[in-house]
Amino acid sequence: MTDVLTVNGLSVFYGARAQAVEDVSFSVGQGRVVALLGANGAGKSSIMKAVAGLIPAVGTVTLRGADISGMPARKRVARGVVYVPEGRQIVGHMTVRENLVLGGYQLTGPRRKSRMEMVLDLFPEIAEKADRSAWRLSGGEQQMLAIGRGLMAEPRLLLLDEPSLGLAPLLVRRVFDRLGAIRQESDLSIVLVEQNLAMTIRLCDEVHFLRSGRIVGHQDAESLRDPAARQAAIDAYLGAS
Ligand code: ATP
Repeated sequence: MTDVLTVNGLSVFYGARAQAVEDVSFSVGQGRVVALLGANGAGKSSIMKAVAGLIPAVGTVTLRGADISGMPARKRVARGVVYVPEGRQIVGHMTVRENLVLGGYQLTGPRRKSRMEMVLDLFPEIAEKADRSAWRLSGGEQQMLAIGRGLMAEPRLLLLDEPSLGLAPLLVRRVFDRLGAIRQESDLSIVLVEQNLAMTIRLCDEVHFLRSGRIVGHQDAESLRDPAARQAAIDAYLGAS
């Protein structure tokens, strides 16, 4: 079966000397959740932005067998590649509903309505506040809105950048539970960037460990469910250099 996403030999440079990502390769199958784990500055966001077409990169990005490496970001969105950035980036002065409409700007009429209903069903917390300004939402609700806005774009590949950032543990659990529901209900493929291994492995199928812009390890999530194995992976791949 053709993978949904294949990234091959990806490198990202900021200026001539600063290399943030070095020769990274990985793939994501249909309906699979693949996590990129690493410390601050390991290059996780840069990989996501390069896949989304938001920053230039060397190497190839293939979507369902088609090379999209040179394609502008908006065309990638039209093909179902949707990036949910870290730090939420919702539009505070607009209502929850208006933010969702922005995410699904390409949809019209009944298609937009049914998509909106699907998202609001998934996140009842924000459904109750659909006509309030987004800045009035709590941090967890803003994260749900950011994910909901991404889902409005009818993704086939969702790129989620640190959905747990800045959230209390209970809310992280709630957001991850919803992501679990999304993956069960749809055949969506997800790339998840995280620093929180324990929460990530509840949701994902495979983990790539990143350090200084390189993939230094790759494991099935299943093999990391045992706490001792998890600690060993953290020590091996994420510990101080
Ligand atoms: P974080 O969780 O902190 O976002 P990350 O793993 O996502 O970390 P990146 O944000 O991809 O890492 O950053 C990788 C490296 O590239 C870091 O050394 C960072 O300082 C550098 N970098 C990121 N964005 C820029 C930029 N716009 N200009 C210059 N350097 C950058």
